[in-house]
Amino acid sequence: MQKLGNKRKWIPLIIYALANGLMFCCTAWGYFRQDKDLYVLLARGSAAVIYLNSALVLLTMSRVLVTRLKLGALSRYLALDKHISFHKVVGHVIFAMALVHTGAYLVKYLLSYPSLITPFHEFVNYSGLILVILITFIWLFAQPAYRHHNRFEYFYFSHFLIIPFILLLFFHAPKFAYYALVPCLIYGLDRLFRFKRMRKPLEILSAKTWPGSILELRLKRPPDFYYHPGDYGYLCIPKISQLQWHPFTLSSAPTEPNYISVHMKKFGKWTSQVHQLMETTSTSQQSPQAPYKAIPVYLDGPIGAPASSMMQADNVILIAAGIGITPFIAFLKTLMNTRSHHTTYRKVYLYWVSKSCDAFTWCLDFFAKLLTQHHPHFISIKLRSDEPAVFSADNQLAEPLFVNHPIQWITELKNIKSLHPLDKFTVFYCGPQGLSKILKPIVHKLGFIYKKENF
Ligand SMILES: Cc1cc2nc3c(=O)[nH]c(=O)nc-3n(C[C@H](O)[C@H](O)[C@H](O)COP(=O)(O)OP(=O)(O)OC[C@H]3O[C@@H](n4cnc5c(N)ncnc54)[C@H](O)[C@@H]3O)c2cc1C
Repeated sequence: MQKLGNKRKWIPLIIYALANGLMFCCTAWGYFRQDKDLYVLLARGSAAVIYLNSALVLLTMSRVLVTRLKLGALSRYLALDKHISFHKVVGHVIFAMALVHTGAYLVKYLLSYPSLITPFHEFVNYSGLILVILITFIWLFAQPAYRHHNRFEYFYFSHFLIIPFILLLFFHAPKFAYYALVPCLIYGLDRLFRFKRMRKPLEILSAKTWPGSILELRLKRPPDFYYHPGDYGYLCIPKISQLQWHPFTLSSAPTEPNYISVHMKKFGKWTSQVHQLMETTSTSQQSPQAPYKAIPVYLDGPIGAPASSMMQADNVILIAAGIGITPFIAFLKTLMNTRSHHTTYRKVYLYWVSKSCDAFTWCLDFFAKLLTQHHPHFISIKLRSDEPAVFSADNQLAEPLFVNHPIQWITELKNIKSLHPLDKFTVFYCGPQGLSKILKPIVHKLGFIYKKENF
């Protein structure tokens, strides 16, 4: 049954491929019947595929809409967690079809006109040229080489070119309006909603540094801020940079009325600057009562992540690497605060692996509390670090949670399966891509559902 669930996720992709094929073939067939040459068939067929995908490219990034849909019945049929991966596929298709469309017309003009300049006096042709230049910039700077490796700004700002691209496309090909008007409206409203909520500054209530270079920021929760465990948001701290918005999981439980928290690991330039700013502010004597008042924080969220569906799963196996624990802490805190939900969870298995033992410190008290509240039959926690654990008098309660040998994932997951042969499990993984590559085939082999999130 679960294997079927994993396979069912392919159906939308097959429908998508068929829809593209159909758009191409039906349009080309229409022109074929008008006795148009091969270049026109190729150009018109690819244009039809561009219309469809330009509408999809907007819908896949309507984050508020996708977040809402993820919690509904549609998520059983569509792999909504993969909306960004799908957005990338759609982007590649648009770029490839733009090349086919332009290439076909260029060859046709080369064969029909004495000079290539002549056809470019017409609006439809020079606007087409501008469109292909725009999409090339968008596509090129969206490649991993720009999205990562300190060149994020190229990706970020070039993506705004989608606005002139879409606007110009309406004039270049008026038929585009049939496909794109509604998605444009949905995307516009989605952006407007996000823009409105991200303009309200949040007050920092506290900032605490934990061992393992982890900063816990508690922000005052606005009264109308609703979220689910596993959701994340983009944080902007204008004192550091007005342009940078970095994603962080909300590590607090939605049941906590007064604050929302994030746990931020020092990683690169921006996170190091945040750590430093909070440390210097807490030690400055200017305003000891409310030291962080002069540091407004903006939050674009909540945004649904793969882990946001944890509450809907029957039994869960949570696997975290490093700071990837944050969505699971939000989930476990929620379980702890909402006793009535317990009966719906038969089993929660948590595995947390980390290079350093320090990284666990901020959670040890919480785990101890959690385990005193719950029967071990209901929650199992295993922690594993590459370095030996040292226990102070404060955290001795957590000692039995530590595993002193590397975790054999296949053995662990097989054991769970044999203990609960009839139960449905979803494995949620959060952490770097490397471990996910090991886990995914094992999870699928055992017939569990797999949901992953990479930080
Ligand atoms: C959904 C999600 C949830 C996350 N949750 C957490 C969490 O709970 N705790 C935690 O510690 N980390 C979390 N992360 C990781 C965190 O977002 C990064 O560690 C942080 O952005 C690193 O920023 P940096 O500048 O310090 O590092 P850098 O090495 O300078 O940048 C690292 C990456 O940040 C991105 N980036 C660079 N510039 C910008 C910019 N201007 N705007 C936006 N992104 C930019 C790029 O992709 C770059 O590869 C999460 C990431 C994701 C995707």
